Amino acid sequence: MNVTTNNSAHFPFDNSYARLPERFYARLSPTPVSDPVLIKINHPLARHLGLDPDFLDSPKGAEIFSGSHVAEGSDPLAMAYAGHQFGGWVSQLGDGRAHLLGEVIDGDGMRRDIQLKGSGPTPYSRSGDGRAGIGPVLREYVVSEAMAALNIPTTRALAAVTTGEKVFRDDVVPGAVLTRVASSHIRIGTFQFFAARQDMDALKILADHVIDRHYPEAREAENPYLSLLQHVIDRQAALIAKWMAVGFIHGVMNTDNMLISGETIDYGPCAFMDSYHPDMVFSSIDHMGRYAYQNQPTIAQWNLASFASCLLGLIHGDQDSAIRAAEAAVNTFGDRFDAAWSAAFRAKIGLGEERDGDVALAQDLLGRMAENKADFTLTFRRLSGLSGQDAGADASVGALFENPASFNEWAVKWRARLALESSSDGARQSAMGAINPAYIPRNHRVEQVIMAALEGDLGPFERLLDILSAPFDEQPSNAAYQQPPRPDEIVHETFCGT
Ligand code: AMP
Ligand code: MG
Repeated sequence: MNVTTNNSAHFPFDNSYARLPERFYARLSPTPVSDPVLIKINHPLARHLGLDPDFLDSPKGAEIFSGSHVAEGSDPLAMAYAGHQFGGWVSQLGDGRAHLLGEVIDGDGMRRDIQLKGSGPTPYSRSGDGRAGIGPVLREYVVSEAMAALNIPTTRALAAVTTGEKVFRDDVVPGAVLTRVASSHIRIGTFQFFAARQDMDALKILADHVIDRHYPEAREAENPYLSLLQHVIDRQAALIAKWMAVGFIHGVMNTDNMLISGETIDYGPCAFMDSYHPDMVFSSIDHMGRYAYQNQPTIAQWNLASFASCLLGLIHGDQDSAIRAAEAAVNTFGDRFDAAWSAAFRAKIGLGEERDGDVALAQDLLGRMAENKADFTLTFRRLSGLSGQDAGADASVGALFENPASFNEWAVKWRARLALESSSDGARQSAMGAINPAYIPRNHRVEQVIMAALEGDLGPFERLLDILSAPFDEQPSNAAYQQPPRPDEIVHETFCGT
């Protein structure tokens, strides 16, 4: 379907969430800012949403995307939610610094939220100032757009602006607002908010809204709410496997940061691993390593069990029957995740056919990578180039290992297995190159972008965005961006930035 672009600030809003009962949100406008200036408009995304990027790439766009001007048809609101944060229950959260402007239908006929983040305090702010600094805004812009280019379901970045105001964090930094686009901002925590209040009417309204919006096929099932649960489980299992396959660590997998739609949300202290280790943690606030790389599937299942418990009353009138059905659904997570993980890692090492021992072969490589501090992204990328070459070429990957012989041993087994594949070397090379990225948003590069922006230079931000928009292309002139950090460039810790 082609979208006709509006030649004005007109947003074709149709705000279904704002039509839900009043207790789902607080209706209020963003707080205007003193001097809004555009950092960036995402032109292709704007066009896909039926908006006019050239019009928005203007002082008027800066006013709209800072919250200073509320576009016609917008019905701004802060959503209510609750959540488990690091396992601890918080009964009242909600958008403490975000405003949902409204929803539009995109070029694929999909309904999409347009939300400002950093747009001022709301009744849910608790003690925060409702604002965001330029660092976290650019970070989310870069990483969410990189995830999209890596074909990983995610919220998108539509715009970033500076506010002309200062925010006080560890330092005094320029304030900024991010415009985020999502299939919806409904979280596990949204369901928890109503379940905790035993508001069965609201739970049913919310579940029906979510089925209509994200999982219409569940409506046809014998038990639509059980089917909804199963769909959400399937999407999350697929999502987490995709994270694992690119070495992504979310960092704050609280139930309020897990979307029912199955998109990745909230790029706070997230990180892509350079050298591989399953226990890797970057977040400065994750002292126990709860959200470490290899814990992500377990935590997702834990969160989904929380979601399931919210739906019990809808699944069955009899509580024991409801619990049995919900437990059975949550228990499918392991198999779904394992299947998605195995498919992803088989493909990463170039196996198009499925044979016994494939998963063990992939795990053997990961074990050797961990022992030898091999760079996750480069190992798989260079492996793509090895297919069809003899062992003489192995040094290109072996050099990434502290002990290259460890890789060479593995490569012998790998070649023996490749010999059983029916595909040609050329076909395998291109298949591997299309899923093993050359470019990821490496932490030190993101850091460099932020440092430069704090000095007023947005060039590195633009350049990194451009490189990451084609992560599977070789891009010879940008080869330096494939490289892991030098020892003095390594980022050991990432921060929420709130
Ligand atoms: P997050 O860790 O970003 O997922 O946020 C957790 C909760 O804290 C959410 O309810 C946010 O809206 C709220 N919050 C985070 N930062 C701020 C801030 N600067 N001002 C007000 N509320 C905030
Ligand atoms: Mg959050």
